[in-house]
Formats: sequence, C-alpha cells, structure tokens
Amino acid sequence: MREKNYDILVLEGDGIGPEVTAEAVKVLEICGERFNAGFDLSSALVGGAAIEAQGVPVSDETVQAAKNADAVLLGAVGGPQWDDLPTDKRPEKGLLALRQILDLYANLRPVSVHESLAHTSTLRPEVVSGIDLLVVRELVSGIYFGEPRGRQNTSSGREAVNTMRYNEEEIARVARVAFDAAARRRKKVTSVDKANVLEVSGLWREVVIEVAAGYPDIELDHQFVDNASMQLIRNPGQFDVIVTGNLFGDILSDEAAMLTGSIGMLPSGSLGGGSALYEPVHGSAPDIAGEGKANPLAMILSMAMMFEISFEMDEAAESVRKAVEEVLGNGYRTGDIMSEGCKLVSCAAMGDLVADAVRKDS
Ligand code: NAD
Repeated sequence: MREKNYDILVLEGDGIGPEVTAEAVKVLEICGERFNAGFDLSSALVGGAAIEAQGVPVSDETVQAAKNADAVLLGAVGGPQWDDLPTDKRPEKGLLALRQILDLYANLRPVSVHESLAHTSTLRPEVVSGIDLLVVRELVSGIYFGEPRGRQNTSSGREAVNTMRYNEEEIARVARVAFDAAARRRKKVTSVDKANVLEVSGLWREVVIEVAAGYPDIELDHQFVDNASMQLIRNPGQFDVIVTGNLFGDILSDEAAMLTGSIGMLPSGSLGGGSALYEPVHGSAPDIAGEGKANPLAMILSMAMMFEISFEMDEAAESVRKAVEEVLGNGYRTGDIMSEGCKLVSCAAMGDLVADAVRKDS
C-alpha cells in the first residue's frame, strides 16, 4: 500500500527532451519504490511535437491536464525545423502559454557547483567551489508584460516603448516564495533592484521589507542590480537566496548559471497558485538530439526539486542529489562535462548510474 499518490504530467517536448525525460522517469520509479510513494504518470505533447500532431504548440487538453496534475515535468521545446514559423505559432509559445495560464509567477533556479566539476567553470575553482545559491525570479509581470508597449513612427523618427510595472501583491507573493525558500536553506535573502533610479524598484524594496517582517529569522539585504552582477562574479559564495524582478532575474539567473560551467547540470522550478512546473534550464539541443549524448542530470535534478517543493519528499530529493554527487565523484561524465581521466557515458547510462545509486542509498 502506497503512502501517497501523485499525478504527474510528463511533457517530453522536442530534441533531447524525450531522452533526458526518460532518464528522470527511470529515477522517479526507483524513488517511488524506495520512498513508498505512488506516481501516476500521464504524458502529453508540447512544442514542436504538438505542432506536428495537433497544429498548435500547446492544446487546450494539455493545458487542462497540466492544471489537473500535482506537478508537471517538462523536457525542452524547439528546433530549427520550426524556426521560420511566426512567433505566436512557434514551439516556445507553448511553454510561455503554459507558464502564463498556470500563473507560474516565481521561477526558482538553484545554482550549486559540484566539487568534482569546479574546474569546468570559467572562474577560478576557489571562487566557485562550494557555491550554493538560489535565484528566485518574478516570471509573469514586470517590463516583459507591462502596457503600454510597442513602436511607432513619429515626426522625430522611430520610437519604441516598454513599461516596467509591478503592483504590491505581485511583489509580495514572489518575495514570500523567496523567504520560504530561505527558511529551508541558510536563512538569507538578497533582494536585487535599481531603487536609486526606478520608482518601480522603490516599491519593490518597500514591499520586500514589509514581507520580511513576517520572517524574523531571515536576514535581508538589498543590492542594486549592477552591483549584484559584479558580486556574482567576485564573490558568489556570499549569496543564499536572490529575489528579483523579471528583467533583472532573466539576466542574473543566466549569469549565475554560468558559474557552474555546464548548462546540462542546471534544474529549475516555476511555482504559482496551482500545479508547479519543473524543467531543466537548457533547451532542446538539436545539435546532439537522438545521439544519446545529452546530459540528463539537469532534468533529474529538476525532478528532485519537484520532490522537495511540490511533494515535501525531502528525503527522496536528498537521495537523488546525493546519488548525482556520487556518480560524478566516481568520475562518470556525459560529453558536455567530460574531462581528462573521466569515464564518458551515454545519456541512458548516466540515468542508470543515478538510479542505481538511489537504489543502493540507505
Ligand atoms: P540549448 O540549451 O538547446 O543548447 C545550447 C548548447 O548546450 C548546445 O551546444 C547543446 O548541445 C548544449 N546542451 C544543452 N543542453 C544539454 C544537455 N542536457 N546535455 C549536453 N549538452 C547540452 O540552447 P539553444 O541551442 O540556444 O536552443 C536550441 C533550441 O532550444 C531552440 O529552438 C531554442 O528556442 C530552444 N530552447 C528551449 C528552451 C526550453 O524549452 N525551456 C530553453 C532554451 C532554448
């Protein structure tokens, strides 16, 4: 008798999406056995695969299935064969629509440097070694969505406008996600803004301070975005949780991601009012799709985030992370993280190794 059953919608997507998702599901099944949880998996199409089969990048049925699920696991979408389609018909539109409909307002990107991979970063190992930070980015508002927007021809030439706008609840809800995450971690939040120039940032800072009052155990500090981008390179070890708006978060989360040296290692989760969505940070890597070369660890670590955040299965999440460390520590590598003296393995073999390590972990 299973202790609990979870409904998970699996959206493999395109390119290496199906390859890395298969490995995550392999590990998921072992976790179900080991931690006495039942997972009811269903699958649906998204991105290019959905365009081919259903004529749209995400169908209403898929959206409904995502809403009904306890969590969604997504591989990646996109590929050169769909690059010439108009923007609103492209594979990426399916993912954006899903994020918006599910109101996934907080995007979480943990960045940690695995000891055995510290030398693959472009920064010195002593700078990146031991990094363990989390970027919480507001995902459904701010300048990417603000109105008015657009361009026009005026008597003095071409003109374009975008609007950065936040209301207090939009700020407060993402701040709460950051403080809740910090409570499970090293209890420090750094809020990033540009309050010396922007009124929106002034409000951002004010509301974050108000939310912080409800979390007396969490330390809060503030950095301007230009300083934060320098600090990430100079001394990334100072950060625990970074919370910031959509535009700054877009840039800082990519910068933070690159501290690790490989995009194939980076998981993410997007949370909102209902089902959360977990996906690797990387895209569909059409250059290596179908060759068994993809690194499945970002996808497997995204699943670990799902265990921890959506299912409160902390032990299972920890076991998966430990298994990944162990496999890397034993010198197994996919091509993207390969270095001298290590053992090159395929995507499926990497999934098997992690699954075995979880099975043996006691
Ligand atoms: P990408 O992340 O797919 O690939 C960038 C490089 O990293 C490539 O050389 C690729 O081989 C490598 N790479 C990525 N993931 C890897 C992994 N798991 N293992 C080993 N190597 C890996 O980015 P791109 O090339 O800019 O985009 C390719 C397609 O993916 C485009 O259609 C783009 O729109 C789409 N995309 C989708 C998402 C998403 O689904 N969330 C995100 C980014 C890009």
